[in-house]
Amino acid sequence: MARMRRKADLPVKTCRICARPFAWRRKWARVWETIETCSTRCRDAARRDRKNEQAREPGGHPGFP
Ligand SMILES: [Zn+2]
Repeated sequence: MARMRRKADLPVKTCRICARPFAWRRKWARVWETIETCSTRCRDAARRDRKNEQAREPGGHPGFP
């Protein structure tokens, strides 16, 4: 028999930044599908990542010297 290990029936995702699993939280109820990171710290890191990528793209910032 296949037995699934569940803590409390909550969905779990893996953080995009620290690669750790994290469980659904009530405050994410509306945005769970868009959540990619376990914490605000990791979300900040993800944001920074994105900014850096954009900054490195040539021509990404018109008017930038
Ligand atoms: Zn994380």
